[in-house]
Order: sequence, then C-alpha cells, then structure tokens
Amino acid sequence: MNTTLSTYFFNEANRYIPGGVNSPARSFKAVAGNPVFIERGEGSKIYDVDKNEYIDYIGSWGPHLFGHNPQFIKEALFDAVENGVSFGAPTEIEVKMAKLIIDMVPSIDMVRMVNSGTEATMSAIRLARGYTKRDKIIKFEGCYHGHADYFLIKAGSGALTLGVPTSLGVTKNIVKDTLIAEYNNFNSVKNLILKNKKQIAAIIIEPIAGNMGVVPADKTFIKGLRDLCNEEDIVLIFDEVMSGFRVAAGGAQELLGIKPDLTTLGKIIGGGLPVGAFGGKQEIMEMIAPIGPVYQAGTLSGNPLAMSAGYAVLNYIKNNPDLYSALEDLSSYLANGFKENVKRVKKNFAFNRVGSMMCMFFTEGKVTNFKTAVKSDTLVYGRYFHEMLNKGIYFAPSQFEAIFVSAAHTKEDLDKTIETHAEALSAIYK
Ligand SMILES: *Cc1c(COP(=O)(O)O)cnc(C)c1O
Repeated sequence: MNTTLSTYFFNEANRYIPGGVNSPARSFKAVAGNPVFIERGEGSKIYDVDKNEYIDYIGSWGPHLFGHNPQFIKEALFDAVENGVSFGAPTEIEVKMAKLIIDMVPSIDMVRMVNSGTEATMSAIRLARGYTKRDKIIKFEGCYHGHADYFLIKAGSGALTLGVPTSLGVTKNIVKDTLIAEYNNFNSVKNLILKNKKQIAAIIIEPIAGNMGVVPADKTFIKGLRDLCNEEDIVLIFDEVMSGFRVAAGGAQELLGIKPDLTTLGKIIGGGLPVGAFGGKQEIMEMIAPIGPVYQAGTLSGNPLAMSAGYAVLNYIKNNPDLYSALEDLSSYLANGFKENVKRVKKNFAFNRVGSMMCMFFTEGKVTNFKTAVKSDTLVYGRYFHEMLNKGIYFAPSQFEAIFVSAAHTKEDLDKTIETHAEALSAIYK
C-alpha cells in the first residue's frame, strides 16, 4: 500500500497538532502505525490522499448511517447554505428538528440541541443535579460519555470503590462525586445507592455500550435500574449518542422497552455535522434556562446547517420504516461470515452485535462488561487491523470500538470484507 502522502501529512501534522490528530481515537497509536489521511468519501467507501480505496466500517465514528455523502444530505446542506450559515437567533428548522426527535423517541417530551455528544451528557448531568438537588452520579466502568471531567474516571481495583481519574487535570474534588459501577451487574449499583442514600442525582449508562467494544446491556439489568431510579428518585440517563437512530428509530430504549428520564443524542442526528442533543421529561427539561434555574447555552447550538443535515437524516429514517430490517440483514450476513471464519481457525472469539453495530473481541468466552472486554489480546488486534487496512478494509484502530454497517454497504462490499477477514485470520493463525 502506498502511503507517501499520508506519511508526509502526518509528519507535518505532528509539528502543528498534538499527536497529529484533533481527536485521539483517530490516532493509530493503539495499533502501532500512522493514520491515513482521507480525501473523500462516497457511499460505503473512503479514499485517502494516496488514492487508496477502503470499504469503511467507521462511518466517522457512527454518524454515517447512510454511508458517505449521500445526495439527500448534500442537497439539504446546499439549500441551507444559500440562506446563511448561522444567525444566533431562532429558526424554523430548529422547531422541525425538535418535533421530529420528540415524535420518534417517545421518552422525549422536550429537547435542547447542542454541538457535540460531550456537551449533551455534560448538560444532562447538570440538569439532573439541578433537578434533584443532589451531587453524586453513577457511571459504569467502560462506558464513555464524552470528555467532561467527571466522566473521565474508571474504577479502581474494585468496581465499588471510588474512581481514580483517567486523565491528568481532573481534580480529586470532581472525582469524588462520580461513583463507578460494573456494567450488567445490578448489585454493584444497588450497593452504591445503599451507601449513598439520597445523594445520587443520576445514573448515566450507554444502554448498548459501544466504547469498550460493543457490549449490550441485559434487559433485566436495565429494568432493574429503571425500578431503582423510580424508588430512589434518581434521574436515569440513557446516553444514546451512539445507539440513537443506529439500532432502531427509537434507539436502544425502543429495543429494551424502557423509558429513561433523560436521553442524550449525537452522531447520527447531525448527519455528519457537529451536533448533540439532550431531552426527556417535560418536568425536568423545564428546569433549563431561560425558563428554569439550570444554565445551559451555546453560540452555535441549533446551527442551521447542522439542523438541516440532521433533519434530512431523521426524516429519511421516518419515511423508510424498512431501513432497520435491511441493516439487520446486511449486518447479520457480515457477522455470520466473520463467525464462520473464526471457526475455521479454531477459535471461539467473543462476538457482540446489536443491529448494525458489532465487535469481534480477541478473547474467548463472553464479553459482558469492562473486565471481560479487556481480556482481549490487543497486540493481535493490531496485527489484524493492519492486515485488513492493507487490503482495503477500514476498521477502528482499536479493539475497544464498534464497527458500523451502513445502508450504503453492498453485498459485494460485505463479501470482500468477509474474504479479507478470512485471509487476515489465517495469516495470523497459520
Ligand atoms: C461519541 C460518544 C460521546 C461523545 O460525543 P462527542 O460528539 O464525541 O463529544 C458520548 N457518549 C457516547 C455513548 C458516545 O459514543
């Protein structure tokens, strides 16, 4: 594979941008290598600056449910640009967008738009704290909710101990209000609540975890959280920045049949533009400024370009009810191909999938939480990643990420991917 220009740009980038990337997930550090620089994308494919072609399974880390640069999003953006790109004043498209989100996600009565998933989760936590007048929150080991200080914490040795910061710059004072529970372990949550009676403002969870690889939550576990939050007056927040509109029009909460109090959204709802949103029960949402005492704001929030792209996406989803069964067919086809290949090299790797998000872990035995996810052999993952990349398949440069199938992937793409996957595994386990 020729990477002359990518290497050149990466060397340049390293001089001006820390690590050469504007978000660490893009770095190939975890798989020992240099990232390729992308020039354009179309449908299921992306093309780098050296003209290498890849079938893309990252889709900009989730947003591209319809593949790259679909005509209907392009048109929506061109139309919006004609009128001006930002006003900092209310526009009709914001109302249309809000109505559509509320219509598609039944637990959301009111919604506010922000500019990223991080902003959405950050604001939802502030709101939950303001609403309950309590300080502490519970998050789960291995769940990612953006990079606000109080989320950058993983558990210490025991899942029930106070966390230690995952990043320098996060103060002890902030850490002490974030309690860490174990994913899919109801008792770990219950114990934290017993020890912190009437002090927990919110439980925040990815109802399908997608940031430790893909790890779905048990239905009974989620139902347990819902009941516990009802009993203890705790705000239940589903972080659906990744799973929202990815696994169903109503998100993971539709599949699970559980309504959270607040939901955070992002990724797909921006159609590739920088967008996030949080919404939920009217009584809670009415606590937000300017009608309530919880402050939250954004110069570019509800930006007309972002709203136009996002509205086009949601509208398309709404008018194509067969979309998710089509995605399921494509995704199960791909997953079955992968599983056959794994059998052929006599391995029994954990494979988790919900609809079009999936992950193969280089570990045998089930992956149900962070502890079991990190048993994966990340060195072998690195090898596998490069085998795939060199043959034109673009996966995440980390074991602990999802891959996504889009509506633009063709049977031919999937067959090529399955074939390359077989070759990669037999190269590794020859
Ligand atoms: C991506 C992601 C975020 C953060 O969103 P950004 O737009 O990157 O700030 C938060 N929560 C989940 C579940 C995510 O997948």
